[in-house]
Amino acid sequence: MFNKKLENLKNYEAGKPIELVVREYGIDAKDVIKLASNENPFGTSVLVEQALKNASNKAHLYPDDSYFELKEALAAKFNVTPKNLIIGQGSDQIIEFIAHAVLNETNAILTAGVTFAMYDIYAKHAGASVIKTPSASHNLSQMLELYKANKDKIAAIFLCLPNNPLGECLDASEVYDFMREISPKTLIVIDGAYNDFAKFKDAKKAIDPSDLIRNFKNAIFLATFSKSYGLGGMRVGYGIADESIINELGKLRPPFNITTLSLKAATIALSDAEFVDKTLKNNFEQMTRYENFAKDHGIEFLPSYTNFIVFKFDTQNSSQISQELLKKGIIVRDMQGYGLNAIRITIGTATQNDKLFEKLDEILK
Ligand SMILES: *Cc1c(COP(=O)(O)O)cnc(C)c1O
Repeated sequence: MFNKKLENLKNYEAGKPIELVVREYGIDAKDVIKLASNENPFGTSVLVEQALKNASNKAHLYPDDSYFELKEALAAKFNVTPKNLIIGQGSDQIIEFIAHAVLNETNAILTAGVTFAMYDIYAKHAGASVIKTPSASHNLSQMLELYKANKDKIAAIFLCLPNNPLGECLDASEVYDFMREISPKTLIVIDGAYNDFAKFKDAKKAIDPSDLIRNFKNAIFLATFSKSYGLGGMRVGYGIADESIINELGKLRPPFNITTLSLKAATIALSDAEFVDKTLKNNFEQMTRYENFAKDHGIEFLPSYTNFIVFKFDTQNSSQISQELLKKGIIVRDMQGYGLNAIRITIGTATQNDKLFEKLDEILK
């Protein structure tokens, strides 16, 4: 009865919710610390909270499906035109549009060895195969080699910059050099979900969407309101590309794909640069504390350009450590599912991190 493509797919395992810890361990919701899904530890901008309250009587109305105001604001921010923009229910949905637009049973995508799981999942929805580099992190020479060997098959290349779940990033100049080797017939997706974090840490990592799409008609830049803007629960993301790509993806977009309240929230969020600055500044100040904790405890960590850090374990088991943390009310992401004996921890507020350090220290003793 079911489509054969579903046979080699598993249900995606999202980060564990606070509600689960409340149910299973009887811990009060206010005492649970969630450092598992790279959400913003400061919540969202107070301007957004206010706007959502003011819009609470608008739930019966469909949103303006042209997303005029939001696109105008994004176009101004990135120095592109509204015709270069597509809005998705999270940038996840745009990955889905891309898969349906370019993939089928005869072709493939190319990705890093360990990267965002949704590229693989949506590719399989479309029946396409997935070619990954032997290297877990982004290795452009391996990518180029695989690309050349499978040129007729590879319809899209996904670069996650910086990479979730490992945290590494590449210099924009190396990325552009790589892109020049790729046929204009291959779509290059740059997932910039954390690119503002990378840009804050090191300007050389910043991908400028306007430069990108001017120089590469076969590129699309993806970004989201879920991380630095603190709107994960609102589900809004966007793609920036040449009009020819946006037109094709638009054919796959269902009407009203984000909600009236989400649209409001995202539009207002763009006006509060201060909130994002505070987020980025806190993130890297606190990241240093994580690096020091790791050094003090002899834990290997992966240098990160994102709002999370990966701790790799040697003799101890990461699933056990995550489970112990969960019992103490802290949710992190175990990485055994990625084949790594490691945990991924979202950088929290100073107070949340204090708690994590205290509990992890107890567990490791
Ligand atoms: C969080 C994330 C996204 C998008 O999340 P949405 O909430 O669907 O916008 C996309 N790519 C990566 C790598 C992410 O980490």
